[in-house]
Amino acid sequence: MTQSNWQRTKIVCTLGPATDRPGVIERLIEAGMDVARINTSHGDHADHARRIRQVRQAAHALGQPVALLMDLPGPKFRLADLPNGFCKLEEGTIVRLVVAGDEAKGASADNCCLLPVRSRELLQALRIGEPVFLADGSVELGVKSVTANPSRADCQVRIGGTVRSGSGINIPESATDMLIPTDEDRRHLAFAVSQEAEWVGVSFVQSAGDLARVRACLSAGPGIKPLLMAKIEKRRALDDLDAIVAASDGVMVARGDLGVETDLAEIPIVQKRIISVANAQGRPVITATQMLESMVEHEHPTRAEVTDVANAVLDGTDAVMLSAETAVGEFPVAAVRFLQRVLTATEEVYGGRMARDRMNPAETASPNEAGNALSFAACLLAARLGARAIIAPVQSMETALSVARFRPQAPLVMVADSVRLYRSLALVRGISPLVVNAPDNGAEPQARLAQAREWLFTHGLAQEDDLAVLLSASGAAGDKADTLQTVRLNS
Ligand code: PGA
Ligand code: MN
Repeated sequence: MTQSNWQRTKIVCTLGPATDRPGVIERLIEAGMDVARINTSHGDHADHARRIRQVRQAAHALGQPVALLMDLPGPKFRLADLPNGFCKLEEGTIVRLVVAGDEAKGASADNCCLLPVRSRELLQALRIGEPVFLADGSVELGVKSVTANPSRADCQVRIGGTVRSGSGINIPESATDMLIPTDEDRRHLAFAVSQEAEWVGVSFVQSAGDLARVRACLSAGPGIKPLLMAKIEKRRALDDLDAIVAASDGVMVARGDLGVETDLAEIPIVQKRIISVANAQGRPVITATQMLESMVEHEHPTRAEVTDVANAVLDGTDAVMLSAETAVGEFPVAAVRFLQRVLTATEEVYGGRMARDRMNPAETASPNEAGNALSFAACLLAARLGARAIIAPVQSMETALSVARFRPQAPLVMVADSVRLYRSLALVRGISPLVVNAPDNGAEPQARLAQAREWLFTHGLAQEDDLAVLLSASGAAGDKADTLQTVRLNS
């Protein structure tokens, strides 16, 4: 590795059947996976636990920090299991939505196609004439008639296509007010805590209050609290964006549902807005869904996809995410390799410009608070001196983010004092997390500096006598960083 192919933007990979093939998880980590994502909407806890064990073991063996992000399903309606696993819906035909298990009651004389759904609430919410979207909006139905007993809805296929067992169902015009967390969310949340997930993705957030309720639920239970990633995928979330971002630990531009729940044409603008709010508040942000969608089936991405990934970097995203590409795709490792190449090529040319913009005090959120001001100064100093790295022992996410938010071009080598923090930081753009390897011995910043130097040397990011900036805590202000030094990286 050199400074020019050092990757700053992080890669999130969704796990699934395709990552269960032998050796795939190891190869994903080697190719650049920083965060492994488990989507609890699919599979059961035994599957998830097995995959989590594999990731933890492989990351440990390879000496790489990999964070675990577990997404709660949220109040999303889904199809139940289909007899053949999938069903092709032809435009113009009539389909009947029934509650799974009620198929026999729903059978009709004209033998229209039956689609079982997981919950009765969906059928109760449907109104005649409203659109129903399936499979990320690729299929559209129009409601023709609804009956309460037996509960069912007949719909005409407006836009045909293939739906699968578990396909998502969106009814954007309906005001279904299911509270977050749902009962199912609570069950998965407890599981996420038991698996020590660093991050939990809260789906379909509509207000800051939703996050507060999830936090209350965590406080009531045992275990270490995960960081909360607010998934922005509802129109109402956009009305309350600043407060939601403030109440979260990170955000996701969840373009899959957002593209159905809001106007698809506005997705590029909405993405820029969410990223800029997250950047301004110093919250990590993931850009998600269909980043390399064609690689589910093909070995090469399209021009448009490559450009989309690069644009997410230019927008200021911390991480880009793969969903079906790695969970069920034919080429999961190739997809990560390709992402890695696009990210580094883009950062090499435009990263410096972004760093300069961020470090223009007029352009950035005012670094008035002491910790932020010192972090800002560290980044400015590193840029002015052409330092090869910014090194900082860190004890909290907060300190780490206060530096990362200025998007310095130099690697941010953060020596965390716990494995949990080390893994949590893997999601943040520009941070190379290390975990402290020497027991605290009084000369702690020195020991951590030595560790960071070794890492920089072995990764080819610095050489003997190169200059680095060290941001550390003298102890005078507790754990807070209060000291800025330039250091020569001598052995
Ligand atoms: P999902 O979230 O994959 O869990 O639906 C991401 C999105 O909606 O884009
Ligand atoms: Mn979603």
